[in-house]
Formats: sequence, structure tokens, C-alpha cells
Amino acid sequence: MNIFVCVSQVPDTATRIKPAADGKSIDKTDVNFILNPYDEIAVEQALRFKEAQGGEVTVVSVGDDTVLNTIRKALAMGADKAIHIKTSDEIDGISAARAVADVIKNSNPDLILTGKESVDTNSGQFATFLGALLDFNVVNVAVKLDLTGTQLRAEREIEGGKEVVETSLPAVVSCQKGLNEPRLPTLKGIMASKTKKPEEIAFNGGSAYTTISELVKPPAKPAGKIVGADLSAVPALVDLLHNEAKVI
Ligand SMILES: Cc1cc2nc3c(=O)[nH]c(=O)nc-3n(C[C@H](O)[C@H](O)[C@H](O)COP(=O)(O)OP(=O)(O)OC[C@H]3O[C@@H](n4cnc5c(N)ncnc54)[C@H](O)[C@@H]3O)c2cc1C
Repeated sequence: MNIFVCVSQVPDTATRIKPAADGKSIDKTDVNFILNPYDEIAVEQALRFKEAQGGEVTVVSVGDDTVLNTIRKALAMGADKAIHIKTSDEIDGISAARAVADVIKNSNPDLILTGKESVDTNSGQFATFLGALLDFNVVNVAVKLDLTGTQLRAEREIEGGKEVVETSLPAVVSCQKGLNEPRLPTLKGIMASKTKKPEEIAFNGGSAYTTISELVKPPAKPAGKIVGADLSAVPALVDLLHNEAKVI
């Protein structure tokens, strides 16, 4: 099976994000970028399919040189090859998808896995754009995947339940939490990843359809209130929850 996994980099969730001086981007000083957590799930799923059925796993990432760390993590988990589509331009879901489609359209992909969303910009559009550009079947937000030959059975999370869908390869599938537990890279995997040089390809995704015009932090939360430390505080607490917070 020829599997591609699209991976993006996101700020470490422990990082305190600040808007940069231009008010449109994040201040990257001291920001630690990591492999998007949903993309770790996608990499893990690709490795499990490869281990069960044979084949090759290639990770693809669009961005500047800082994405190389993200690519290295996926290689250390066990991906065979990597493609870095290099750009420092502003990118959005459609331009990133166009660039990936352009690079892999002639590589006969059977399955393309992505994360459900990037946990920074969260637009959740990339997988659908990519499927449309390649004219592949698309399944979004998969929590279980079974593959028999070229038939794919997916469980999707829906409000209050799950939906089971069936489709055929080639397909693009976006992966949701619960699909699997991603493995940690082993020392052997980390060492092996150092010998796998990502193929660098120039960006051919055109311009972004959307541009960020403003990035603002949410207003600071008011300080907490200590009503009391024993049972005598309960009536005042109930009163505040009812009349001030209006949650009961
Ligand atoms: C000036 C500028 C520079 C940027 N540089 C980078 C960068 O260097 N690296 C970066 O990752 N993002 C970068 N971004 C973020 C960029 O917005 C996203 O890559 C792109 O817009 C998709 O984000 P999304 O929220 O629409 O993705 P979603 O649709 O929420 O993402 C869903 C899935 O699509 C895949 N995906 C998303 N983005 C990429 C990507 N870039 N490459 C491969 N697969 C992807 C992943 O599997 C992800 O889980 C940059 C944005 C701007 C404005």
C-alpha cells in the first residue's frame, strides 16, 4: 500500500502564545513547534496499515524549514520517507492542499491520512480540499478504520452516536482522537530517522484564499473569588452561582 500522511506543525500546547508586532501572526520567539497531535494519530494509523499489509509510508509537510522537526518526529515514529514542500509564503488550507495534490498526484497514492484539524488554526478544511482536488473519496473524523483489500470501513463520531461508512480506495481520511494510541519514537527509530533525508520540493500551491487580518488574545479572566473555607460559605456560594454566574 502506498500511504501518504500530511503533517503540520503547531505550537506546543504548553506554549503561551503572543500576537507578533504586526498583529496578524504569532510571535515565534521561544515557541516550541510540535507535530500536530491529530497528525501523530494519522502517522500511527499509516504505520499499523503498513505493518499489517506491507507498503510504504511517506509524510508530507508544507511550510518553511521549521517544519523539518515535525517531519523528523514522524520519521522517528517509523515513516519510510518524507517530502518537504518548501515555502515561507502565507498559506491556508486550500493553498496547502493544492501544493500537496500537485506533488503526490502522479505517485499513485492508495490512502492519504491527515489529522482532523490543526490544533492552532483549526479550520479542518485541508482533507476535504485535498480529496476534491485529487477526485478521491473523503472520510472525515474517523475513530475506527478497517481495510479489506481496497474497501475501507470507517466509524465516524457524530452527535450522540457513531456513523459507519464504507468507501473504496483511493481515499483521503482525516483522523480523530480515539482511533489509536500513537507510539513513542524508539531510540532505534530516532537513529534511523537521521539517515532519511526529506525530499525538498518547491511550493506550487498558488496564493491563499484567506489571509489573517487580525490576531487577538481573549480578554483576561477576572481573578477568582474565595467565598469561605467551611460549610458556612455554602449559602453565599449558592447565591453567587445563581445570581452572579447564573449557572444554577
Ligand atoms: C504566514 C504563514 C505561514 C505558515 N507557515 C506554516 C508552516 O510553516 N507549517 C505549517 O504547518 N503551517 C503553517 N501555517 C499554517 C497554515 O495556516 C496551515 O498549514 C494551513 O492553513 C492549514 O491549516 P488549517 O487550520 O486549515 O488546517 P486543517 O484543515 O485544520 O488541518 C487538518 C489537517 O491537514 C493537514 N495539514 C494542514 N496544514 C498542513 C501543512 N502545512 N502541511 C501538510 N499537511 C497539513 C494536517 O494533516 C492537519 O491535521 C502558516 C500560516 C501562515 C499564515
